[in-house]
Amino acid sequence: MKFNTKTIHGGQKPDKAYGSIMPPVYQTSTFAQSTPGGHKGYAYARSGNPTRHALENAFASIENGTHGLAFSSGLAAIDAVLKLLKCGDEVISTNDLYGGTYRLFTEIYENFGIKFHFIGMENANHIEDYINDNTKLIWVETPTNPMLNIIDIEMTAKIAKKHDVLLAVDNTFATPYLQRPLDLGADIVMHSATKYLGGHSDLVMGALMVKNSDLADRLYFIQNASGAICGPQDSFLALRGIKTLHVRMQRHCENAKAVATYLSKHPKVEYVYWPGFKNHPNHTLASAQMSGFGGMVSFTTKGNNYEAAIRIVEHLKVFTLAESLGGVESLAGHPASMTHASIPKEQRENIGVVDSLIRLSVGIEDEDDLIADLKQALDK
Ligand SMILES: *Cc1c(COP(=O)(O)O)cnc(C)c1O
Repeated sequence: MKFNTKTIHGGQKPDKAYGSIMPPVYQTSTFAQSTPGGHKGYAYARSGNPTRHALENAFASIENGTHGLAFSSGLAAIDAVLKLLKCGDEVISTNDLYGGTYRLFTEIYENFGIKFHFIGMENANHIEDYINDNTKLIWVETPTNPMLNIIDIEMTAKIAKKHDVLLAVDNTFATPYLQRPLDLGADIVMHSATKYLGGHSDLVMGALMVKNSDLADRLYFIQNASGAICGPQDSFLALRGIKTLHVRMQRHCENAKAVATYLSKHPKVEYVYWPGFKNHPNHTLASAQMSGFGGMVSFTTKGNNYEAAIRIVEHLKVFTLAESLGGVESLAGHPASMTHASIPKEQRENIGVVDSLIRLSVGIEDEDDLIADLKQALDK
């Protein structure tokens, strides 16, 4: 089955009771048993719920995995992966990382005796310098947020295999429409399903996908034992979102290209970060690893003026000033005052998050309206 069919049918069967084409929302905490242990596959809804199960099958299918697991948020999914580790273990992670992931690693898991190395991974060979007998996990995010750097998943997977270390990839920005890390050798794929998989800015959810049943069993044990599951209503919404993932992503990519191209020619714009441009430092790798360049575009304005950047995002009308990304509607953010405000100025500027940087999650509206909106805001 090809990807554009999997989003709709992958892992899905009409419901057993009446053949409903979408799974019913099994809004229940428990299931009747005929005799102790005599149930129809579900005993208690933390351990399993048919609506969630339908979503988990879809998760597995779209990433070419064998098992999927749904969590109450992206961070809950990352938390479950970290619970595979124990005190004394070491993790090598991308340095240009989603802020919440960085906070979870450094403010929670470092306290439990896990050691993290945050490194630039643009050169994958560099990773090997940090591997020792305690290394258990490599954590990769690609494209990165908000600088849209690209990391070589296949090369990183080879290094991970050689040293018997798990490789987990946060695939939130690319989605399986553009890149499938399990096919490239990763062990675990993670998503904030809050973003493109859900796609409608109406839920918070996380996903893990794997292709190995031992690993799936260990992660299922953690999901059930720790309990950060998502509810049946959200599972239904996410399943509905996934059915249009391929058409949404196609339009996100087209609109982002149009927006990036427009911005690159605007006299007030200094630099546009979009992996589709030939002058993007990782363009060749992005072209090989991904089947498109995604819906995210970041840019800076000339003079690098903090107030000017704030004025631009305040004057946007079709783009909404908000955190998050990946929904059908276009959003704009100012990382220096929003997502990255807690990082000291010097440190954030080292990774490129300067005062004038604006990050756009380009939605699926008409591209003419998006460009006209950027024009009027930049002209102010
Ligand atoms: C949003 C996001 C997360 C965290 O997911 P939540 O659903 O907000 O918990 C992790 N990684 C990336 C790349 C994200 O964009």
